[in-house]
Amino acid sequence: MAWVYLNGEFLPHEEAKISVFDRGFLMGDGIYEVVPVFGDKLFRFKHHIARLRNSLRLISLDIDYSDQQWRNLMLQLVKRNGGGHQGIYLQITRGCDPHLLRKHAFPQPVQPTIFMSSDPIPTNSKEAMLQGATAITLPDTRWERCDIKSIGLLANILATQEAMDKGAKDAILIRDGLALEGASSNLFIVKDNNIITPPIGPYILGGITRELLLELAKQHNIPIEERNIPAQELQQCDEIWFSSSTKELVPVLALDNQPIGNGHVGPMAKRMIDLYIKYREALRES
Ligand code: PMP
Repeated sequence: MAWVYLNGEFLPHEEAKISVFDRGFLMGDGIYEVVPVFGDKLFRFKHHIARLRNSLRLISLDIDYSDQQWRNLMLQLVKRNGGGHQGIYLQITRGCDPHLLRKHAFPQPVQPTIFMSSDPIPTNSKEAMLQGATAITLPDTRWERCDIKSIGLLANILATQEAMDKGAKDAILIRDGLALEGASSNLFIVKDNNIITPPIGPYILGGITRELLLELAKQHNIPIEERNIPAQELQQCDEIWFSSSTKELVPVLALDNQPIGNGHVGPMAKRMIDLYIKYREALRES
């Protein structure tokens, strides 16, 4: 049985109910966070909570849980759901208007809905990551606040589905001639032994895995640069990867049906996968 957390209580999932007037349901008025758990340990918890607080601040929603409260709730949920490797999904919406109105302006008072679930996730083995994936480029049809981890994911969903319908695994989103990120992941390229990733800003989500890869590369003196990536550079680079909390590091072997580099996983991807897995395993043993 899967347990969830809803507004102060742990409940079996089938007993957890919210109002049909919840603004998350009616208007997508909410934000979310995904925290991976490897071997019962919350992965990069502080970073995920900082991003959660930033999303809340950017939508003017105040939640007075301390970091310690979040940590305890997450650990309790993971334990109830059997521990091990899990992905915690946390969603906070602006709740429902006490007068059951559907108005754009914030309700008075605001009674947020706080929901968490957790599901088993595989830790991707090195072999699984080395399988790589294919991708296509698509125009970025999202809004101008992609740094908010909004529950309004329609543009991301449509891009992912279009990529899959065209036989690829994911899409690289292009806006104003720049390659920004995947539909649910960050983007890296490698050119002449330099790793390049677009800088954070309103057009991408500041990924926690992205930040970790930057940190690991710097620690090991691997040249890494945050700069814009013109879309035409994608076909001329040696490697392309995606990163995310659940997919971890995914080398892209072909883009728009053209091989990237020699069409195999490149040496820099292999090196970063090794460093990433080492970091992940050290955390599990700590
Ligand atoms: N960009 C987008 C649009 C995403 O949805 C995600 C995954 N939530 C990421 C980047 C990667 O972020 P993270 O590494 O924190 O999972």
